[in-house]
Amino acid sequence: MEATLVSPTPTKTYHDSDEMTGLIVDDERGYRYAGYKSRWARRIHACFCDQRELVINALGGATMNENYDQETSTGLHKRALKMFDCCAFPTIRSRDGVLVPSLNRCRDRMCPTCASFRAKETAEKIQALVKPLGSIRFITLTLTNSPELKPMVQRLSQCFKELRRRNSWKAHVKGGVYSVEITRDEETETWHAHLHLIVDGSYYDQEELSNEWLAVTGDSMIVDIRKIANIGETAKYISDYVSKSGNVDCWSDSAIREYAIAMKGRRMVHTFGNAHGVKVDEKGSDNVDRSTEHVISIGDLASRIEHDPRAAEVVDKLCKHRRIWSKIFNRPWVPGVEPIDEEMERVCKLAIELAAPTKAEKAIRKKLNEQEQFRDASNIRWTRGVKPLYN
Ligand SMILES: [Zn+2]
Repeated sequence: MEATLVSPTPTKTYHDSDEMTGLIVDDERGYRYAGYKSRWARRIHACFCDQRELVINALGGATMNENYDQETSTGLHKRALKMFDCCAFPTIRSRDGVLVPSLNRCRDRMCPTCASFRAKETAEKIQALVKPLGSIRFITLTLTNSPELKPMVQRLSQCFKELRRRNSWKAHVKGGVYSVEITRDEETETWHAHLHLIVDGSYYDQEELSNEWLAVTGDSMIVDIRKIANIGETAKYISDYVSKSGNVDCWSDSAIREYAIAMKGRRMVHTFGNAHGVKVDEKGSDNVDRSTEHVISIGDLASRIEHDPRAAEVVDKLCKHRRIWSKIFNRPWVPGVEPIDEEMERVCKLAIELAAPTKAEKAIRKKLNEQEQFRDASNIRWTRGVKPLYN
């Protein structure tokens, strides 16, 4: 059978023909990954390219072999396609007179780029949460390995709930925040789950805690407690531990799928006790931030750099303002020495002016739209099915 390249959004206009690519479809194995959808995606995902490829292949390759029902395998395929689209068509929006990037992220837990954004946001919230606490302790609770992930994660949270009800625990711990870390031993094909806690409380003897943990789990007694007074060390520990989970590099495809299914929609970081109610691990809305306004697409701005000095200036200033812009426009990160913050308002006005079409442009766009509508009408059968990009 001849493989066909398809794109999940085939009617999109591509600015970057050199990077345009698709997913290889193969009826036997589902979708397989083939590069990036746009040059923006390539740049934004650059740090995670191997991991991203691994995950998209694993999710896209879900077949009926593992006894998935139709709904589950379709769900995994959809997630692969959404991850493939992640950051492909970023736009520029404005908030309070400052330009901000809107990356159009997929926000899937399995997407390494989105996970790293989320980990950063979560780490900042946890730091704000633990800052006022006087005496912080880190506790790790471990369960024995298990071949099945979902029941193990459920058991872990149940055991921890029981531990919190015990008098010994209540006597030493007032509350705090905890995160779930999942690791995998590919040799024995088993999962390993830890709970990492940052707690507010008094000295807790390790042996006492170990006995309590054994009493609630029935088979696990490995615990670790340490007191850390240094705020710098605390910050490092927190950012490490929120980004640890789901290190899929050495996992098999079926393990990646099992993780994707078991952890879907599950919050990895929770608060309890006196910190309860503070939300630290939010997926974020799929919708664009309502406090911002669309200005121009990155593709549109980039295509004007050469012949419009205003576009060149906007890009130049943005790349000095925040690292993410320099990544998007593929420039070395050299933070601006001039009072760049004050200049951003002017840059924003310039971008808005740039995005506003001139009379001549409006006329051309109107004409193009009419032609497009005509073409759509004559191609109706194409757009309803999956339209091949290449044969
Ligand atoms: Zn993503």
